[in-house]
Amino acid sequence: MFARVALASAPILLAGALLTGAASSPPVIAVAPPAGLGLNPFYTRYLDAAGLPVVSSSRAPEEALTTAAAIVRQMLAHRPDIAAELARQGYRIAVMAPDEATTDLPEQASWTRPKPDDPRLTRCERKHYDERIGGLTDRQYWNWRARGLAGKLTSAGTENLLGLTGDRYRGQNIFVHEFSHDIFRAAYVADRALYNRVFAAYDAASKAGRWKGEYASTTVEEYWAVGTQFWFNTAPYASFGDVHILSDEDLARYDPPLAAVLREAFGDNHRLDADRWYNSPLRVPPGPLPAYTAEVC
Ligand SMILES: [Zn+2]
Repeated sequence: MFARVALASAPILLAGALLTGAASSPPVIAVAPPAGLGLNPFYTRYLDAAGLPVVSSSRAPEEALTTAAAIVRQMLAHRPDIAAELARQGYRIAVMAPDEATTDLPEQASWTRPKPDDPRLTRCERKHYDERIGGLTDRQYWNWRARGLAGKLTSAGTENLLGLTGDRYRGQNIFVHEFSHDIFRAAYVADRALYNRVFAAYDAASKAGRWKGEYASTTVEEYWAVGTQFWFNTAPYASFGDVHILSDEDLARYDPPLAAVLREAFGDNHRLDADRWYNSPLRVPPGPLPAYTAEVC
């Protein structure tokens, strides 16, 4: 029912091109964070993105900050009301250097690993808690679990922002996913009607059996975030049964209500200029296409 994307026609990103800045982004120089932000001295670099601070230690390359800031600005371009709400609530982006991890960010240094009944655990983590998590320290758990999380402090890995080798999320922009969570949470205040329409779309999808077994089906938040990645053509290929989704067009065909609410947030734009993974062939696993792409555990 859903056309496979002709991979041969997808633009091939050359290694050199991955490291150059987006042509449309003006050069922006990071400066020391304003004292008024009250940040830990760990943070030495700062940029403003639509009213949101983008910060890092001196270990992260400035290009990672400018890339994150460009993505934030473009994701919020259609919705200054949501941008203002995120700023009002004090949302902030922290860019991690490749050799920094979740618990190196001072605000997260004392995080403890989730208990077996923690709702943040994924389906597979819960099922295999003892083997996967039982033997890990708090620090090992968080640094293994994620390099980039949503929230008032949203984090992003330099390697994912810049398309570097060694990225655990190679082939998708996980920062776009995480920041979309923030947008959805801000919509709760800035545009409750949109927020409610996302729930309605999720309920309709659940009743219709759409996204069955996929990460997008786990919660309305993940439904929105995975949808956002497909909207901007920066999601890994999803295949389940006779459904194959890679592009924004595949998404709109498969789940029109989801596409409709995403359009309310992002307008008609389907490309984030600073996204190194836009339309990347690496979104599709090598070799024969799998019939099912959801994690098996
Ligand atoms: Zn998510």
